[in-house]
Amino acid sequence: MDEEKKKRVSWDEYFMNIAHLVATRSTCNRGVPIKYLSKYKGVGAVIVKDRVILSTGYNGSPRGLDHCDDVGHEMIEGHCVRTVHAEANALASAAKHGIAVDKATFYTTASPCYDCFKMLINAGIERIVCGSFYGSRYGASEKVVGLAAQAGIQFEFLRSESDQPHGFDEDTIRITEAKVADINKLKVRKIHPSATVPSYSHNGDAGLDLFAVEGATVASGKRASIGTGISVEIPMGYAGLIWDRSGLSQKKGLKTLGGVIDSTYRGEIIVGLYNTSDEAVELMKGDRVAQMLIQPVESAKLEIVEDLSETQRADKGFGSTERSEGKKLEESEIREIKQASVPEEIKTQNKNTRKEENGEGKTKSRW
Ligand SMILES: [Zn+2]
Ligand SMILES: [Zn+2]
Repeated sequence: MDEEKKKRVSWDEYFMNIAHLVATRSTCNRGVPIKYLSKYKGVGAVIVKDRVILSTGYNGSPRGLDHCDDVGHEMIEGHCVRTVHAEANALASAAKHGIAVDKATFYTTASPCYDCFKMLINAGIERIVCGSFYGSRYGASEKVVGLAAQAGIQFEFLRSESDQPHGFDEDTIRITEAKVADINKLKVRKIHPSATVPSYSHNGDAGLDLFAVEGATVASGKRASIGTGISVEIPMGYAGLIWDRSGLSQKKGLKTLGGVIDSTYRGEIIVGLYNTSDEAVELMKGDRVAQMLIQPVESAKLEIVEDLSETQRADKGFGSTERSEGKKLEESEIREIKQASVPEEIKTQNKNTRKEENGEGKTKSRW
């Protein structure tokens, strides 16, 4: 028989296709293009547990109230507020029928808005599978993707050919999808057979420890490049930032030099160290030499302008901070002022990494 083998859809495709079908009952022609009703827009959602559908929902008016398709949209601040979102309707329908959705998977043809996402967290949803990427109320869909990991929710995209992104440019979508797909599996390659793979010492550590692949001596007042014997594939939209290990810098005076690993870099991670102490520092093979923080990064789009907005500080460098009578502030007073103007959580984060303030008053922080 040369009959072509039938392509069986996966369970995710199966439930997502049903979500697309659910979207055909939407009562408001906004949202994302409906796969099975291509001229129209809408959103469909399906809640599934153990491969059983628990509930469905589409973006639709509350029971008994007018439909946008009959009476027009009810626009407030650029958004139609007449309907209940598909996600919320699926949850409401489950609630009405007394169906528990704890630990269920949520299929939706458009990525959830911030409000719906917060409801999905509190309803106990464990996994969200989205069709299209949808920039919705508060422009928060992008934020949702970032918060999913924090909330312990698996977040995935299952885009079909008909899915058109809405409200975001292709770059943002590509980066966001890459973030979702890749951050949970940071690829590491051992270039050297005896290299130690980076690791977090303790749960909740910010940085992955980096280890020397061979012994080295860093002479007093000199620099050294320490090989780690590993290379990494950092996901698009992230960077690896190499920082001091506080023990090594404070006890032995070893400071890291430079150290931004771009997502496109595939070479060996080399740690630049500078010995600020009066004595040579001996490093053994397998010693922790630095730490690498994996952090999301934004690409700024530049706009050339004639003037920048005014601030009280304007172009004064940090060292030029003066009292009204013209007297220079004491070092401790400057620190006090600076501390007071930094939000509490940032103070904590910077506690161990704040550098000596210099004339530029800049620390290597992303805030
Ligand atoms: Zn509407
Ligand atoms: Zn919503």
